Amino acid sequence: MEVDSFLIAPFLGQHDWETIMYTNILPPIFRKPPGRPKKVRKKQHGEPMNSTKLSKKGYIMTCSKCLKEGHNVRSCKGLMHPRSKLINKKKNVILLL
Ligand SMILES: [Zn+2]
Repeated sequence: MEVDSFLIAPFLGQHDWETIMYTNILPPIFRKPPGRPKKVRKKQHGEPMNSTKLSKKGYIMTCSKCLKEGHNVRSCKGLMHPRSKLINKKKNVILLL
């Protein structure tokens, strides 16, 4: 392969280091930020708050009673739709009684 065609010469020690005109290069000044360090990373825009659960944002709820969109069965004031799955549930309850 072409990658293996040339050899990278290894440094054997400090004496192989290149000398430059700057001397006494110091590490940057360390400043301790005030306050307790954060344990939880700040979420990026659009990143879900909980990665194990999917967001319901943009989800159009459908009523299981009247099968209309925009509300659910708890706030439903409409009539029972003939194809609603709640009809079968009620029938079962009646049969058990
Ligand atoms: Zn409804």
